[in-house]
Amino acid sequence: MEPEIRTITVRIETPDGTLPPARVAIPDVPLGLADAAPPLYELCNGVVALAAQKASRAGERTSCASGCGMCCRQLVPVSIPEAFFIWREALLAEGESAAAFNRQFASAQDSLVNNGLWKVLESIGEETNQAQIAARYWDQAILCPFLVNESCAIHAIRPCACREYNVLSDPASCSRPLSANVKRLVIHRRMTTALARTAACLLSQPPTLIPLVMIPSWCESHRSLDDLHWDGMEFFDLMLSFALKG
Ligand code: SF4
Repeated sequence: MEPEIRTITVRIETPDGTLPPARVAIPDVPLGLADAAPPLYELCNGVVALAAQKASRAGERTSCASGCGMCCRQLVPVSIPEAFFIWREALLAEGESAAAFNRQFASAQDSLVNNGLWKVLESIGEETNQAQIAARYWDQAILCPFLVNESCAIHAIRPCACREYNVLSDPASCSRPLSANVKRLVIHRRMTTALARTAACLLSQPPTLIPLVMIPSWCESHRSLDDLHWDGMEFFDLMLSFALKG
């Protein structure tokens, strides 16, 4: 029997404007954590575009350009749904790309274990002093394992944190991304946060943010969470309620 489909209209208002109403068809099938990532990626794109338009009206424009991966040496926080989604799509897939990514992750892990930062990253969370940890991470000059020739090799499925990171200042400042000289586009509805809180609510635990560099090891050791499923309609309602709050 075909699953029942519920169609709803999603309207998201932000201080930068209102996203065009989107009609979303939700199949009444059980959904798992990774299923939350793609729809919130779409909302994230819309929210970022609104913020960029507002900046443009104020005479500012993002200075990020293709082939510049300077920001991809930073600590990137991902929610549990994004971690499982990226793990499945990019790291568990067959082929040389996935094998190469896995080698890059293993190499980054070795470096972080050797300099003692891996243990610190294992305890990072929404309430942690992330600025201090981010500074230590930047100092290690570890490239994101998905960065190839200074471009993102998983652009279509990259995390919300990467979508939300846009710089308005001179690109020369990005060699010191944590300095006050770097002016970033202000995003008022963060889908990283919405996804982290959705997962926290479903799993009855505090919101968890995982450093991108730990995706394979974290997902491997929490594999059982990827097998959990919830009622599709309730899952979507919950996700949307957190997206509206950002
Ligand atoms: S996922 Fe892509 S955009 Fe994000 S840090 Fe890695 S290479 Fe950069």
